[in-house]
Amino acid sequence: MRIYESTRDKECKASASSAILNGLAQDGGLYMLRDLEELKIDLNAILNLDYYEIAELVLGKLLDDYSAEEIHDCVHAAYEHKFEAEDITPLVKVGDIYLLELFHGPTSAFKDVALSILPHLVTTALKKHGVDDEIIILTATSGDTGKAALAGFKDVENTKIMVFYPEEGVSAVQKRQMETQAGSNVCVASIKGNFDDAQSSVKQIFTNHELASSMKENHQQFSSANSINIGRLTPQVVYYFKAYADLVNRNEIKLGEEVNFVVPTGNFGNILAGYLAKQMGLPVAKFICASNENNILTDFIKTGIYDRNRDFKKTLSPSMDILISSNLERLLYLLCGCDDKQVSQWMNDLQNKGKYEIGEQLLHVLQQDFWADCADDVKTKAMIKECYEANGYLMDTHTAVAYAAAMKFKEQQINDKKLIVLSTASPYKFVGSVYEAINNQHEEDEFALMNKLNTLTGVDIPKNLAHLNEMPILHNNHLAKEEMEQFVKMKLEEKQW
Ligand SMILES: *Cc1c(COP(=O)(O)O)cnc(C)c1O
Repeated sequence: MRIYESTRDKECKASASSAILNGLAQDGGLYMLRDLEELKIDLNAILNLDYYEIAELVLGKLLDDYSAEEIHDCVHAAYEHKFEAEDITPLVKVGDIYLLELFHGPTSAFKDVALSILPHLVTTALKKHGVDDEIIILTATSGDTGKAALAGFKDVENTKIMVFYPEEGVSAVQKRQMETQAGSNVCVASIKGNFDDAQSSVKQIFTNHELASSMKENHQQFSSANSINIGRLTPQVVYYFKAYADLVNRNEIKLGEEVNFVVPTGNFGNILAGYLAKQMGLPVAKFICASNENNILTDFIKTGIYDRNRDFKKTLSPSMDILISSNLERLLYLLCGCDDKQVSQWMNDLQNKGKYEIGEQLLHVLQQDFWADCADDVKTKAMIKECYEANGYLMDTHTAVAYAAAMKFKEQQINDKKLIVLSTASPYKFVGSVYEAINNQHEEDEFALMNKLNTLTGVDIPKNLAHLNEMPILHNNHLAKEEMEQFVKMKLEEKQW
């Protein structure tokens, strides 16, 4: 059996299923596997497999204390009849590059791929370990995670989920998606303040020992659905292999030929999943890390200096507005030869000085696999318009940031391998910005705009968004951040939500 170890203290170990239940390692580090090259996937063998079968193969290796039958059941429960695309993550040729569409799940963002299966991995782990506690998922969200987690955990036995979002920090579509969430185990509240206020209050509630022990008596425990959990990271490895198999099957590349993946990046989860795929044998030349104006990762990949002493910017790609990319810690761990002392040092520096530096030698190793670029809002909108006019293909703002990086990469002729851009959201999810980009007009009513954009472009509105404004509002909790803890305690007393 493979054992996950903490990036900050490798003596802190857990099986895959325990790591999924724990979320974060006890020492505050992230669970990681070493020697991934021992988990090679036979590329020839995946060519004839569908998404489900590739998922079973990849997850079977990465989460190897689950039985084949358990993985099979989780994969099917997660994806069957839940995605609007039959092959789950379609690969579309646009001009001379490819877009890997990850947004056909229940909430139209790529986070659905992982959050559809996480609840099943959690409940299976509970059964394996004979734990009969009810799991309470607490999540602070800047938009996409909250809705995808609600949809994933809705009516899942032995779980409840509570989501807090900043009142002024999410798009009208995102807000309505959360307010209308049905289910007997879900709870949604908006917070007066920004995302950081919601996030720090959630962390405080998480680490309240008194609350934790009284919950234990009532057979309840908290857990987390954010992307530090390996149950969110590992399902994202699957679509990298699927995209590659699609390219070979369509004779776009030869088996074994290297490709580049371009990833719009925030918390570094998606792109790291690609790096894991490469360790498991996927032929990748470069991972192109694309950022918006919060371009801390672009600077890091170019200089080896991670410096968060800078202003946080609100952009048109809000799911990438982030200054601390948690999953980067996992990459650092692998790059420095699993040196937990070294990673702890860097993370301490980040905590205390807001900055760390990895040095020339390691930077060189990093740059063999990664290249980076960033795009501001003006460039983002220009890309949406340009791609639409040239190819009739409509992208969301996050995907457009990656598209911009792909174009720059091509222009600079870094290599001539095929480019696959990961498309992380439906354009309808960020309809205000997308409409403005192609039509130069700003309009307030996002729901009316969906129909206008549909008429203008002929691109279908995803089913889950089409009738959103006619759905009943089921959640009407508005809290000051000081009220959150009391609110959580009150909800913990209620049998059904
Ligand atoms: C979360 C998100 C991202 C960033 O993904 P990470 O794994 O955090 O790097 C990009 N685009 C969209 C639409 C997202 O919701």
